[in-house]
Amino acid sequence: MATVNNTTTSTTTSLSSLSSRFRRSAKKNNNNNKNTKEATIFHQREETRQQQRRRRRRSATTNAAASGTKTEGEQLHLSALEQSELIDDTEDFPIDANTKFEPTIGIETHVQLQTKTKAFCGCQYSYGANANTQICPICMGHPGTYPKLSEEVVEKGVQIGVALNCKIREVSKFDRKQYFYPDLPKGYQISQFDEPLCEHGNIKVVIPVEEGGGEATIGITRAHLEEDAGKLNHVGGSGNVSTATHSLADYNRAGVALLEIVTEPDFKNGKEVSAYGQELRRIVRYLKASDGNLNEGSMRCDVNVSVKPVGRKRFGTKVEVKNMNSFNAMARAIDYEIERQEKLYKEGRGDEIVQETRTWDDQNQRTVTMRKKEGLADYRYFPEPDLNPLVCSQAYVANVRKEMPELPNEIRDRYKALGLPNGDVQVLVEDENLVRFYDEILSANSSRSSEEKEVNISKQAANWLTNDLLAFVKNEKLATPYDLKLNPEEIAEFCFLIENGEISGKIGKDILPELLLDGGSPRKLVEEKGLMQISDPKEIEKIVKKVLDMNPNQLEQYRSGKTKLKGFFVGACLRESGGRANPTLTDEILMRKLEE
Ligand SMILES: [Zn+2]
Repeated sequence: MATVNNTTTSTTTSLSSLSSRFRRSAKKNNNNNKNTKEATIFHQREETRQQQRRRRRRSATTNAAASGTKTEGEQLHLSALEQSELIDDTEDFPIDANTKFEPTIGIETHVQLQTKTKAFCGCQYSYGANANTQICPICMGHPGTYPKLSEEVVEKGVQIGVALNCKIREVSKFDRKQYFYPDLPKGYQISQFDEPLCEHGNIKVVIPVEEGGGEATIGITRAHLEEDAGKLNHVGGSGNVSTATHSLADYNRAGVALLEIVTEPDFKNGKEVSAYGQELRRIVRYLKASDGNLNEGSMRCDVNVSVKPVGRKRFGTKVEVKNMNSFNAMARAIDYEIERQEKLYKEGRGDEIVQETRTWDDQNQRTVTMRKKEGLADYRYFPEPDLNPLVCSQAYVANVRKEMPELPNEIRDRYKALGLPNGDVQVLVEDENLVRFYDEILSANSSRSSEEKEVNISKQAANWLTNDLLAFVKNEKLATPYDLKLNPEEIAEFCFLIENGEISGKIGKDILPELLLDGGSPRKLVEEKGLMQISDPKEIEKIVKKVLDMNPNQLEQYRSGKTKLKGFFVGACLRESGGRANPTLTDEILMRKLEE
């Protein structure tokens, strides 16, 4: 019996994700009568191809059954659904209200690469430019033009692949993926089919503590380079394709470089998917390989969700969910979809789960049908004749790796080694500006004059930065911590004063607002205001004595056994010193005097 190979599962899925567009357009033609002839021919061809495919599949299955293995090529031609059709053990799994289910979740993410030009021509692309102003004969596929692969595109693709622990293929190739859609001026898309640039990677994701915590390792099946399509703007009606009166084609985006990243179905729930999406976005942002902006479509995630009874081999019917404009929405959409499918199964309505694309309705917090899939499209992939195979030597990959900045995971490890609490690490790593700023505070501290003793301000700095300083940045709507009036050196000085016991944390908190408003040297301000901590035992003794003299009744009560009054005396001493008395020393001296 053939087994379902997960590696193939997501791969083939991704390669056929645009099938419905293809079908829909063919169907439109058919209804339209205008192109009936072409459409008929197309359907005849399609029929033949389907027959051929079925034959191939049958023989692949037979071979697989005979040899126990399949060649990569054969695997690529079997989708998850097709494979699970081969193992029909549904009969052995009657479903009732107590049945336990497990979801299968995989993600395909299109990351738009931030490069000077499009993938195969010299056009620049910027989001929001006037329609059809960023195009040329090459990206429009005019006859006689040839694509030329941008080196920068390869570099960024390799960077992301390396960051995702992928194996970078020494030789990969480009293929044409054919389908008809009005946003695709060439009638095909240059992509990578069976020899993608990156394969077999993984990524570790951390679930935030406030969302339950934990870690998960998600396998990366593959990541391949391809070009983007243009965009249709639907006009009239409610602005969507089904109610619009007409559509305008904007080809600016056509030919822009994408890296499509396909995961293994390793996710257990929506939170893991959301954490994966956020980590992927951090990585591409740290690499400056993409701006990772969800709203502008620089990062687009399609999630495939199916559920099946625990133990059943056959996968459930796979539903694709699209159009989630935040990672939060993504988590909610997936959890909703898992619940919806489970419920239908339990109610004996499992056959109502159909292969379709659903969209997330944020307003009503549910997924709704966007379009039904009518089978798998055949993209008639063939090697792109106008491009040589792409060769990335090991030396080249090593060089790209060497030039890469420190990645979020590496920074996390470094900060944990400094002893920072997890929460602080999480907040810092969220924003690379914050990481840079924090590192500059630490290096400013370590470059202090050597006469001063070495004082470790790592935890102090992380604590002030992630709390008070970041809150100020947000409240004042500053873009980065670099817009603060205090620079990293001054913040290092501030933290040093506290860590070195020259001022108390309380005094620090009191003077911080003034420092944030006016800037300047914290030491100078502390000296001007006479706020230096009192650490001279004689001075403290004087203060303690004064407090005891001022409160004879309480002293008597304390000495006759009401020891709870200690707190009262501590508070009084600190008040008397204007908050400047060294708390540890005060405590020591006070205890001695109380017991006299
Ligand atoms: Zn162009």
